[in-house]
Amino acid sequence: MQLPELNPPVRLLMGPGPSNPDPRVLRALTSPVLGHLDPAFLALMNEVQEDLRQVFQTKNQHTLLLSATGTSGVETMMVNLLEPGDEVIICSSGFFGQRMIEQATRTGANVRTVEVPFGEVITGALVEAELQKKPAKVVGFVHAETSTGALQPAAEIAAVARQYGALVAMDCVTSLGGLPVKVDEWGIDAASSCSQKCLGSIPGMAPATFSLRAIEAIKNRKTKVSSLYWDLNMLFNYWDGAHGFHHTMSSTLVYAVREALRIVLEEGLEARWERHAKASRAFEAGLEAMGLTIFTKGPVLPVIKVVNIPEGVDDLTLRKRLMEMDVEISGGFGPLAGKTWRVGLMGTNATSKSILTLLGALELALAEQGYYRERGAAMAAATAVYKG
Ligand code: PLP
Repeated sequence: MQLPELNPPVRLLMGPGPSNPDPRVLRALTSPVLGHLDPAFLALMNEVQEDLRQVFQTKNQHTLLLSATGTSGVETMMVNLLEPGDEVIICSSGFFGQRMIEQATRTGANVRTVEVPFGEVITGALVEAELQKKPAKVVGFVHAETSTGALQPAAEIAAVARQYGALVAMDCVTSLGGLPVKVDEWGIDAASSCSQKCLGSIPGMAPATFSLRAIEAIKNRKTKVSSLYWDLNMLFNYWDGAHGFHHTMSSTLVYAVREALRIVLEEGLEARWERHAKASRAFEAGLEAMGLTIFTKGPVLPVIKVVNIPEGVDDLTLRKRLMEMDVEISGGFGPLAGKTWRVGLMGTNATSKSILTLLGALELALAEQGYYRERGAAMAAATAVYKG
């Protein structure tokens, strides 16, 4: 059978990622493919490392792109920093914290957890209490917990962990490029993210960075890293060392991230964080005008809103209706499924245009379910924030 021409719908991606990439990123994807050992490609890799350092706010030489989505970044941190029998503390306040626990457990390390209910944040004091019981080689946490919309106090957790001599590993998949991520200032030893959220590229690459302390710990391992694909000794030999073959890196995906980073740095980190913060205020004003509330108890992330689904409104019917309008938002994860929506305000969509489109679609879909009849109020409230 002859397949019809590829013609996917053009959606406004307002879920927790992927977000819509900048058109410049899509254009970069059509550049000529290069071999993974071509000197021209190796030069581009160096450029990308340089820009990544700026975005991560670090001087770490050991900064790279991993060839897979955000999950691979956390996997890489865990399989390299941990060996069977190592003590590790993983902080969890949601689905991605649980994921990190699972990833740490699979290394054979002795995993201890600091957990709070979904929607709350982990404090430095909670981590300290666990460290006082017994030291740990690594403390891991999720900076921006996408499942609950909570912003974890990264600097506070890292300071406590370092005070007790632990390495600090941070998942910043949802925060990088949308809110402050300060790897060196906060004392983070390993951080990993993704390409498809606030950085504004497409899915498929995971930026990551490692301090010298982390690299030293990896060099001092007693056992080989169990995964050849994520072995940082081998990966940095390709990126920074003898450029020996490790795997066939996709030049095309690297071009896309390079262009996305160029856009981020052209805008400026501070300006970009402020744009996301403004989008957050505008969207929250719209929610309030509709009488909708936010699930998150702790500090709310600017880039992800976890919204309580009001009584009498059917989750799937509403999201299906939004899809008919080519607007995507996501449902809740785990215990929050059916009870919350997750809305992303990331990269190209942290703008008045995208927010007003989403709010207009939400107003219509909610009104159709008999929930909300004051059409236009949410859009007016969001507009007022932009007009200042
Ligand atoms: N960590 C967090 C906080 C996330 O939000 C996600 C995905 O949404 C991941 C990890 C996994 O990233 P990916 O889906 O790119 O593998």
